[in-house]
Amino acid sequence: MCRCLAATPAAYSGTGHGVGHLPTNRVIGAEVMDIASYLIFGDLHGRILPAFRLASAWSQEHGVALSGLLQVGDLGYFPDPSRLDKATAKFAAADPLELGSQLVASPTIEADAVFHGEGHDVGRLWFTAGNHEDFDALNRLDRQERHGSSFAVDAYERVLCIKDGSIANLPGGLRVGALWGIDDMAPNARRRTPERGRIRDSSLTRLAGARFDVLLSHDSPRDAVLANSGSEGITSLLELARPRFAFFGHYGSRFGRVEVNARATEVYHLAGMEMRRNGSVAEAGSVGLLTWAGNEGAFEYLDDAWLRSFTRHNWRHR
Ligand SMILES: [Zn+2]
Repeated sequence: MCRCLAATPAAYSGTGHGVGHLPTNRVIGAEVMDIASYLIFGDLHGRILPAFRLASAWSQEHGVALSGLLQVGDLGYFPDPSRLDKATAKFAAADPLELGSQLVASPTIEADAVFHGEGHDVGRLWFTAGNHEDFDALNRLDRQERHGSSFAVDAYERVLCIKDGSIANLPGGLRVGALWGIDDMAPNARRRTPERGRIRDSSLTRLAGARFDVLLSHDSPRDAVLANSGSEGITSLLELARPRFAFFGHYGSRFGRVEVNARATEVYHLAGMEMRRNGSVAEAGSVGLLTWAGNEGAFEYLDDAWLRSFTRHNWRHR
């Protein structure tokens, strides 16, 4: 869930199901190697291992090999239980899944079961930072990685944060730019966001002059979901950099393609994947499939009926 907002939806254009008609590598092991498939997740708030398990189950059941996973921030990276932010501490008191980053920060039986147990290898997960993360911990790891565009936040080197304003070159030739944080300037912006959880102009500037295929941000373009919310900087960035796709989260259970003044880019909002809906199932619009073939791609949300079959009760064995 979004920990915050209640206002008027602004600019949705429906639920935004797949665009484009790419051939896909539907058969694992087929010789169509130039096509990369990624699952993209909305806010996870700690549900890192469930995301890997969901991807493994989906890959296996649909016969689609995955190159990796992407995530739009609010991963819920709080490796130290004494350093939770206020909202996370409140939600974690009722739901231990909020604390899932602790299961990967050091080796655990739970993570071993996901990363070394049965199931399909779904590669690594790359994420941008949202507004609910331990930014001191992220910054410490960020500084240690002096040369790369991303850094591992876990003991298994499966969960990687893309540096703010940087572009990661991922399997299949996909170039993914990351913008950390949320807007703090729109009329309805949140004012009590930690400094590092706010969008930085310097990161917008770096990305505006770069070339990449996908933007991962946590906040939306301005007015894309809620009136007087979201980032004008993201709107301008999309106009200037013109990536093929942009994905964001942050606004709870809403999802869909959004119309913004950036015609070269398809912009999609992902719902949080928190397994709260109907008490326990993966939320509609919380995961989508990006298929990428060199310089063109297609995106579609995963089938809602399939998502309903993945629950907080069966995720370990699904
Ligand atoms: Zn958020």
